[in-house]
Amino acid sequence: HQKHIASGQVGVYSQALYAKLHHEQTLLEGLRHAISQKELSVVYQPILDAQTEQLWAVEALLRWQFAGRSISPAEFIPLAEKNGSIYEIGNWVLHRACIDAAHWDNQALRLSVNVSLMQLLRDDFIASVDKALASSGLAPQRLHLEVTESIFSDDMDLLASKISALKARHIKVAIDDFGTGFSSLSMLQSLDFDVLKIDRSFVQQMTENNNAIVRATLLMANELGCKTVAEGIETNEQAKLLTTMGVDCLQGYLYARPMNNKRLSQWYTSWQQKHQTQ
Ligand code: C2E
Ligand code: MG
Ligand code: MG
Ligand code: MG
Repeated sequence: HQKHIASGQVGVYSQALYAKLHHEQTLLEGLRHAISQKELSVVYQPILDAQTEQLWAVEALLRWQFAGRSISPAEFIPLAEKNGSIYEIGNWVLHRACIDAAHWDNQALRLSVNVSLMQLLRDDFIASVDKALASSGLAPQRLHLEVTESIFSDDMDLLASKISALKARHIKVAIDDFGTGFSSLSMLQSLDFDVLKIDRSFVQQMTENNNAIVRATLLMANELGCKTVAEGIETNEQAKLLTTMGVDCLQGYLYARPMNNKRLSQWYTSWQQKHQTQ
């Protein structure tokens, strides 16, 4: 490889590119063994009812401990999609999270799991969801699946059929990172989502005098009969403003960071105590 690198600027550029590709290659290879090496884990982040501050749902978020580092899902999920390990990994998360949720003290608590479009569109996806529910004993009504808005660029008919199969099982479907993709209003209407999650970027840009996008999104979600969740709440001001604007649920570091299953149950106990003594 070094032979092809010219001197000066081009060389510097190529070396940076080479390092990037090498890093990516290492991760791609590592992903194939992530499950068997027990490097994956799931953490959970609370989603609260904005009015009552009661726990409404918990989102499962994947973590990968690789070569002494914690790799972000934002980095490795696209790579897992690239080499096809997303199917096995996605299945693993679904099973792991359903088993954890089936054992929670609060048997009404909803579990929200992210699924990648590739995973969702595969022939055996619905069967693997059925299997995760059956083997864990989790009630389908408690399961929510989050798909990102970028899905709208793909095969709409296939997507619609998957969503109706899930809804026929009483599983709820959420549209994640809303506002960052390319969905049209008619697509949104025809896909019949249960939950709409407003992306963190809008929450963080928003101010008391400048919040038209969030306001319009909430209005539309209400019209479509979608429950709304605002992601990435970090300040009391954001929480207050969004609650006043009528958002249904709030999620963010202000309330809790993603945590492992054991810490989630401790967090839940202390959260409940705090809210009973108020
Ligand atoms: P997401 O589904 O939109 O998840 C929310 C992300 O925002 C999470 O990042 C969460 O840790 C982070 N977050 C939550 N509250 C706050 C906050 O107040 N401030 C800030 N700055 N960030 C906050 P995370 O865990 O790094 O996940 C990144 C993305 O990776 C997720 O975005 C999701 O798209 C994807 N992902 C995570 N787990 C899975 C999975 O099991 N399967 C699939 N297909 N994708 C996953
Ligand atoms: Mg999500
Ligand atoms: Mg999101
Ligand atoms: Mg997001």
